[in-house]
Amino acid sequence: MGKRNVASSDVDRVAKAESQLETKYPTVRMSIAEAQSWIDRVAHSEDIDPPLVVRHQLPRRLLGVAVLDDHVIVVRHARPSQLTLLHELTHCIGHMGHGPSFQRRYVKLVQRHISREHGEAFVSLLTD
Ligand SMILES: [Zn+2]
Repeated sequence: MGKRNVASSDVDRVAKAESQLETKYPTVRMSIAEAQSWIDRVAHSEDIDPPLVVRHQLPRRLLGVAVLDDHVIVVRHARPSQLTLLHELTHCIGHMGHGPSFQRRYVKLVQRHISREHGEAFVSLLTD
């Protein structure tokens, strides 16, 4: 299997687990202002530089994008979910792609900043 295939199966696995998690245990949706202050708190407790959260049009398949050079999280919806914000925050702190290191850090952030239950459910969905 080539690298391209590995990368696309990682992104599919993560997207599928996220959508199942949001169906079973929906995470909180917040306005952009609320999302910014939540991300500021998360970043502070993780000792990372808080990214700016902005809303902008994105291609249909994307809920969010991390613009690493500008340290910005771009979200598609007026009320992004906590899960979308933590996904993009994980990219902001240096995890490229959606492979094992991305997934481990993302799950840790979900456990610490959403709930332990969400974290546990997410792990089992990711390893299904
Ligand atoms: Zn991503």
